[in-house]
Amino acid sequence: MPEISPRVGLVGGTFNPIHLGHLMIGQEAMTARGLDRVLFLPNGIPPHRAEASVDDEHRWAMVTLATCSNPRFFPSRFELDRPEVSYTVDTVSALRQANPEWRLFFITGADAMRYQWKELDRILGMLEAMIIVSRPGYDQPDLERRIAAMSLENADRFDLLEAPGLEISSTMLRERLAAGESVRYLVPEGVEQYIEKHRLYGYGGTP
Ligand code: ATP
Ligand code: MG
Repeated sequence: MPEISPRVGLVGGTFNPIHLGHLMIGQEAMTARGLDRVLFLPNGIPPHRAEASVDDEHRWAMVTLATCSNPRFFPSRFELDRPEVSYTVDTVSALRQANPEWRLFFITGADAMRYQWKELDRILGMLEAMIIVSRPGYDQPDLERRIAAMSLENADRFDLLEAPGLEISSTMLRERLAAGESVRYLVPEGVEQYIEKHRLYGYGGTP
């Protein structure tokens, strides 16, 4: 039966490279909040950091590989193909315009509230909820304090979700790869093979 108003989760990120932490927050949010599908949107030019260290098409290929085995996960080029900086407010607004029947949920890790979000209140107003998933190293009281300090009109749309802690970051993976260390069991198998095949992040292959 076609979904009339699908509940769609969005996971944005640099995904440089995508890892099990990213997939886990998508899955946990999907099951805990009854989402119909989750889109993974690698960003083009992220607003708060230097450009990614590998080609956009490699990041895209890895997101595709990582999501292909889950029938409810989909990679999206929505941000990647935009020529300008990807602000979440613009992405959410454009996605809503293109798909007015979608009910949107933004899914992010607990580190996200340490960044400045352009027009956060407006983003929240367009979402059913912003699901903030726990992340090792970012404690909940701190997160709640930060949220309270922002005194947003739509603060009730924050939805904090406890999930198993996976202490994985793309930074850690890039460092390991540059040092010639394996990332097996930290990224999906296909992503590991892709990194090895294309010698990404300075990885020289398994000893
Ligand atoms: P980097 O170290 O390059 O910043 P990252 O691992 O933080 O990489 P991003 O692409 O920056 O990955 O993150 C995309 C989204 O995934 C963000 O919302 C981030 O909070 C979330 N996320 C990433 N890793 C985890 C994790 N281990 N647990 C929970 N959330 C995570
Ligand atoms: Mg990050």
